[in-house]
This record gives sequence, structure tokens and C-alpha cells, in this order.
Amino acid sequence: MDDERIGKVFRVIEERRDAFIEELLDFLKIPSVSADSSYRIDVRRAAEWLVASLARLGMETKIFETGNHPIVFGELFTSFDRPTLLVYGHYDVQPPDPLDEWTNNPFDPSIRDGYVYARGASDDKGQLFAHMKALDAWRQCGFELPVNLKFVFEGEEEIGSPSLEAFLKNNEDLLKADAVVISDGHQFAKGIPAITYGLRGLAYFEVEVEGPKMDLHSGGFGGLVMNPIHALIFILSRLKDLKDCILIDNFYDDVIMPDEEEREMIRQLPFDEEALRKELGVRELFGEDGFLPLERKSFRPTLDINGIWGGYQKEGAKTIIPSRAGAKVSIRLVPNQRHDVVTRLFVEYLKKIAPPAVKVNVRVLAGANPVLVDRKLPEMKAAEHAIEIGFGKKPVFIREGGTIPVVNMFYEILGVRPLLMIGFGRPDDRIHGPDERFHLDDFLCGMKTAVALWIELAKLSFRSEGS
Ligand SMILES: [Zn+2]
Repeated sequence: MDDERIGKVFRVIEERRDAFIEELLDFLKIPSVSADSSYRIDVRRAAEWLVASLARLGMETKIFETGNHPIVFGELFTSFDRPTLLVYGHYDVQPPDPLDEWTNNPFDPSIRDGYVYARGASDDKGQLFAHMKALDAWRQCGFELPVNLKFVFEGEEEIGSPSLEAFLKNNEDLLKADAVVISDGHQFAKGIPAITYGLRGLAYFEVEVEGPKMDLHSGGFGGLVMNPIHALIFILSRLKDLKDCILIDNFYDDVIMPDEEEREMIRQLPFDEEALRKELGVRELFGEDGFLPLERKSFRPTLDINGIWGGYQKEGAKTIIPSRAGAKVSIRLVPNQRHDVVTRLFVEYLKKIAPPAVKVNVRVLAGANPVLVDRKLPEMKAAEHAIEIGFGKKPVFIREGGTIPVVNMFYEILGVRPLLMIGFGRPDDRIHGPDERFHLDDFLCGMKTAVALWIELAKLSFRSEGS
């Protein structure tokens, strides 16, 4: 802590702790469930509550209408020669069901064992509010802000962010930033904060095999037509082998391997294979030959059949050759694979292996590219340092196995490269489930991290506009 401002702001955070928590509870009481239209007024109320809070922090605010739930924008401009940090969060929450599995009413927050329990506590109200209260504490000290701040809080994240893409495209200038911080995730494990620098992409397909026009009697027609279920099984069984190696032609061409330093970093992450095996109730962990479990889910592509249907499934025997059969297949992509290229390879491969006696249709259900933020960027170092100051512990750098569409949008539409994915929550915060919670220590450490991040980012020399 080489900066006297940090000491002072941290003291204010400690002193104002209870008041900040009270405000968070008020925010959590608003049932801003985006998926259920009966909460529509409440979602709006949450947006207006945020706008009022941002205005009290001296921000210029604006509500952007989307046709459904609004996007809240707040800006605090200080100087052209300071870096601009954009903070993304979402104020909408998941439906609270099943209600009878909650200890307290999900919208009547309760504090127990250092946690606040409420829907949205960790995902994502508590996390975004940490950034806001950091600004509150900062302003109470009377210092000038070392950065320009922009807050973008959407109300549709839990329903897939349908309006965010257009919002980013239409407001590129307004949203210009040197770095984006997203606090909508969690630490690696209890007591191990993390920076996520990689996400896998996704290519999702529905494969349908068409045989005869109608279901046929297997006695009368067995031997005359190809059974679509057999054709489907034949196709699916050729997508990968028993060593979990994907067999689609040219599939691995664009896959880049991490260097030895990065592999070593992943190897050093605490990971208890046996504990996970027991937790999942499987006989052994399984995956691609030659890679460790954490390697397989962070930097190797994987293919899974997510569902399969066809034929007679009810009680007793029914001797039919079904008319059709289908399956859902998803592929997790890694750098530098592109979902459109993999889609083309998948379709071509199916065309090649499909038995000519049936018709095979492929529908593309989803596509997202993988994201890899250069973990050696100075902004990543700044974030690392900020977390160390805020949480009192150096973070680990991790690649997540999943996809976060919002991150892709900031990466691809705004073109911001320093994307700082810093989750303040914990893996066992039970987000989306009953008894969702957020530890108040994480709320405090989150505020401190936000403060330290501004100071650390301001230390970097930023390129001038347009370069
Ligand atoms: Zn979230």
C-alpha cells in the first residue's frame, strides 16, 4: 500500500460498513426478476433506484429503453488524460423458485454467519453495488477520482441479454473505455480470488435424421428401409472416439496450445481430483488422453451429446421403425477456433459420413467464439495488484470452461482488449438456487479492490484517443 489515499478510503469503507450493507439490503428487497413479466414494474423500480443512487454519487445518468427492461448508464468524467474504466453489471435476478426451499423470503434479506441471504445477493446486485459503494467511500474522502468511470447495468442478463448487442453497437462513442471490468462471477475457491482471462466458445447443433414418411411396422418393413435411429447412432458414434478425441475432419487445425509457462500455471491450481470424483459420483474422471482434468476444461475443445430422441419410449413393446430421430450436440471451442468455421466443418463431416439411405438435417442453435485476454497486459497486472490489495491475497489466473455472451459482446463489438473478469463472490454462493448468498467480507473486499483498481490503472500510461 504505497498510496496514502488507499488507507484513507479503506478506513471510510470500514467505518461506513453498516450503512453500506443497509443500502445493499434495500436494493436486494426489490424483486427485479427479468424472466417473469409479472415483476416488470419491480425491474423498472430497481433501475430507477440505481439511477437515483448513481446521481447521488455525482454521476451523469441515463436510462436506455430497450422495449423490455431498461439499461442504466452512469458516467463520472474527470479528465481527458485519465484512463476510462467501464464497469458492467446486471440488476435483474433469477426467479426465486422453489420458494419453500428458502430459509428466508428471497426478497426479505437476512444476515446470518457473515452472509447476506437474498435472491441476487451474489448474482449480481452485491457485486455491482461494491463498485458503486467504492465510489461513495472515495468521494467522502474528498479526493479527485484518478480515472473516468462509466457504469453499465443491464436488466436482462438472466434472460440472455437480448438488447445489449444493439445497445453497444448504437452507443460505441458513449461507451469508449480503456478497460472493462465485469464482476459477475466468483473466486476460484474459498480464500483464492481469481482473474478469469479465458472463456470457451460454443457451437450448438440439432441433428435430425429423416427416414420413411411415417412410422412403419418392423415386421412388414424391416429389411426394406434404413432405420433413422440406427443412422443417427452411426453418425453420433463417429463424432469422437473413446479417448475423447473429436473426429470431425480438420477440427483441431485452429486450436492453439498454451505455452509451457501457462500449462505450469494451470498445473499449480489447487484441484482435488478424488474429491470431485466423489462429489459427482462417477467411477473415474474422463476426458481427452494426455491432458489433466483442469487442462481439458480450460484449453481443450470438447463435444457432448446433450439430448437424444426417437422411436417408441412408453411401456411395453411396439414394433416400429420410426420415421425420424434426433439429437442435440454441443461443442465447446477454444482459441483460435471460430464458431462459424466449426459449424461448416461439422456440416461437411456429417454430409460425408451420413448413410445415403436417410436425410440428415442440421440446425444451428447457438454460436459464440472463445475469448482469451492476454494475461500479460499491463491492465491485467493492475487488476492482479488491485485484488492483492483488496482481498489481501494474490489472485490466480484461470480459464473458464463456459461461455459468457456478455463478455463476447464487449470484446467483439467495443473491441476492448483489457477485459477484467473479477468475480467477488464465492463458488458456493448458490446463485440461481435457493438460499443464494453473498459474504459480507467479499462485499468489503470487492469495494477495496475497486478502489485499488482505479489507482493501479491510473499508474499506467494510456495511449491517446484514436491510436
Ligand atoms: Zn450474473
